[in-house]
Amino acid sequence: MTHPESLDNTSKILIIDDSSINTRVLTKILEKHNYRSEIAKNGLLALKVVRQNPPDLILLDIMLPDMNGYAVCKMLKADPKIQDIPIIFMSALEEVPDKVRAFEVGAVDYMTKPFEPIEMIARIETHLRLRSLQVKLQEQNQQLQKEIHDRYLAETALKQANLQLKRLAHLDGLTQVANRRLFDDTLAQEWRRLERDSLPLALILADVDYFKDYNDFYGHLAGDDCLRQMARSLSQAIKRPADLIARYGGEEFAVILPQTKAEGAISVAQRIQAQIHDLAIPHERSHVREIVTMSIGVSAIIPSHDQSPEDLILSADRALYQAKQNGRDRITADRLLHAQII
Ligand code: GH3
Ligand code: MG
Ligand code: MG
Repeated sequence: MTHPESLDNTSKILIIDDSSINTRVLTKILEKHNYRSEIAKNGLLALKVVRQNPPDLILLDIMLPDMNGYAVCKMLKADPKIQDIPIIFMSALEEVPDKVRAFEVGAVDYMTKPFEPIEMIARIETHLRLRSLQVKLQEQNQQLQKEIHDRYLAETALKQANLQLKRLAHLDGLTQVANRRLFDDTLAQEWRRLERDSLPLALILADVDYFKDYNDFYGHLAGDDCLRQMARSLSQAIKRPADLIARYGGEEFAVILPQTKAEGAISVAQRIQAQIHDLAIPHERSHVREIVTMSIGVSAIIPSHDQSPEDLILSADRALYQAKQNGRDRITADRLLHAQII
């Protein structure tokens, strides 16, 4: 569509009128004001001209030889490509124009013959300016929509990248369970929360038995794969969303169990052990069984301000050491934590 950017002589006006006297008068006035004009003598011709070469504004006579101006206007307004071109109706004074109908079919204005040139030009200029503003607004709106869409896309990509970053910052690369950093943060956070509510916090430490021998015999890659399977088994053994499995060290895993007493933690440890037995990963060099096993230490505490998460870790580690000492492939609960142990 042509853009009537400014009201200079580039604007083209189509006169739809069968009266030669009228078109001559109109053309003259328009030329005087540097408008380009074109003439269509009947409705059908007008529709063709508008579709082929859309003008910036249309002056439309009501009485045409083939159809009336209202019908022409309706047809123009029905075509989305040309429907925004402003149409000004023209009629002779004696025609008793139906102005309401003209506006109903989509006209922007109405002029009665004979025309007062100054008034006619003023009206034309007004509607060209309005149309120009409308085009600008539409363009700005389109640009805005595009910017909103682009920003949405950028934000979505950023969110995904951030999520991925967070995951990477918190997850262990090999096993995809929480890393040590997330473990430390979570334990500290749960400690504070449960201390406030005087609720128990349990911790499990599980370490693969004779894993050095496993690596030596099966190779480091097989060792990595074994750790991944251990992590999966641990994940299958926990039930509550608040529980957290972490890779605590090389072949050692930790499980934080908020609001869990020692007995509850022991039953989780039993599920872990059962899962690992079910895996039945061959371990020819193990001194306990012919499959990969874990030794598991369990502790639980009601957090208090005179103790720290470190005490709970030490307690679970002590239990784990005991499990190793007592023959591995077993669960041991630490009973050494004084009054607080539960
Ligand atoms: P224990 O039964 O007393 O726990 O004996 P262990 O051999 O499991 O314990 P030790 O601490 O002597 O050896 C741990 C081994 O775990 C040594 C190390 O190479 C292996 N390891 C630690 N991290 C990884 C890892 O990411 N991948 C693999 N493949 N092996 C690892
Ligand atoms: Mg080990
Ligand atoms: Mg170890």
